[in-house]
Amino acid sequence: MPVDIAVNGRSYRWMDRPLVVVCVDGCQFEYITAAVAAGAAPFLGRLLAGAGTSITADCVMPSFTNPNNLSIVTGVPPSVHGICGNYFFDPERGEEVMMNDPRHLRAGTILAAFSQAGAKVAVITAKDKLRKLLGHRMKGICFSSEKADQVTLAENGIENVLDRVGMPVPSVYSAALSEFVFVAGVKLMERERPDIMYLSTTDYIQHKAAPGTSVANDFYAMMDRNLARLDELEATIVVTADHGMNAKHGADGQPNVIYLQDKLDAWLGESTARVILPITDPYVVHHGALGSFALVYLPASGAQRAPAAQGELAEKIAAIPGIETVLARAEAAARFELPPDRIGDLVVVSRMDTVIGTSRDRHDLSGLDVPLRSHGGTSEQKVPLLVNRGIAKQPDGRRWRNFDAFDLGLNLARSA
Ligand SMILES: [Zn+2]
Repeated sequence: MPVDIAVNGRSYRWMDRPLVVVCVDGCQFEYITAAVAAGAAPFLGRLLAGAGTSITADCVMPSFTNPNNLSIVTGVPPSVHGICGNYFFDPERGEEVMMNDPRHLRAGTILAAFSQAGAKVAVITAKDKLRKLLGHRMKGICFSSEKADQVTLAENGIENVLDRVGMPVPSVYSAALSEFVFVAGVKLMERERPDIMYLSTTDYIQHKAAPGTSVANDFYAMMDRNLARLDELEATIVVTADHGMNAKHGADGQPNVIYLQDKLDAWLGESTARVILPITDPYVVHHGALGSFALVYLPASGAQRAPAAQGELAEKIAAIPGIETVLARAEAAARFELPPDRIGDLVVVSRMDTVIGTSRDRHDLSGLDVPLRSHGGTSEQKVPLLVNRGIAKQPDGRRWRNFDAFDLGLNLARSA
């Protein structure tokens, strides 16, 4: 059996017991501490109290789902794996497209590498949009709870998932979509006992409910029960998140939105610059496609391209109340570890309580039945990194990242 597997310049030890890495979508640390304080999450409480390891880590920017899930499973930032949004402007094709296709992926995954070396690997994701990226070149089990009724042995490496889990296919806008991921994960660990399992939930609850609310605590109680069961089954468990989540509204409950395309149209002329929101995905009812990160593309030629004009525009955007940072492409790529060819001429980040939109008339906010909570900025970069074991001593001041999850689980966790 192989001893070490090298993936993207990092080396991972072969597991001596099953490893489960869980990406809890939108898990601001406060959700866990509040649920523990309320007595809703005793297993997580024991980990925080010293029975395991509790670290605060940084997720990658933009603090969105796809870039971070892909960072976790590749062990490297978007500058290496290429997935820098849920959605992007493809300069080769001149069109705005979803970043769901493996053709956008520039690095192999740890999951694929271990599966090709003979490990039994399983991936369960809530939303189907992530399935093809996470399962790229991986042999084994890979399915979503969203399409759990459509699994086939040929496509997903498993069949009869609904019968085995004992739940119907959940609504894509529900807590049950994530619960299905956990329950299915426990069933797999009981029967197939994968060597490596990756579970990825959806942030529907976190978009709707603040830490400590009964809705949030119920969700974390459900998660806690299932994690405790995986712990009983003697798996090493690493829990992290793709990003945090913060309130993005004023005291009146109305979202704080900067409609950046409208501003640029007014300053530069209609459609001269193009604003891209990488949060955009097919499931926008709960956040209206509003997050704290935007890209600005300037015309391919003409006066706007002059560095002085770009600098002036950057300053003008930075002066809008609620904007935190505006960076030119090269600077943004360096600071946020992003692929320069897949981001805009300018990268715009808003403050913790503010989101960025395109044009007012392009956002359907009718689905926002509670005040907006969202993510995307540096304000949502802090995420939990928990292990159900102690770990080998690390150098002081190590900057932990959520994409250290496999390093922690395979290389650093002590076998209990
Ligand atoms: Zn997410």
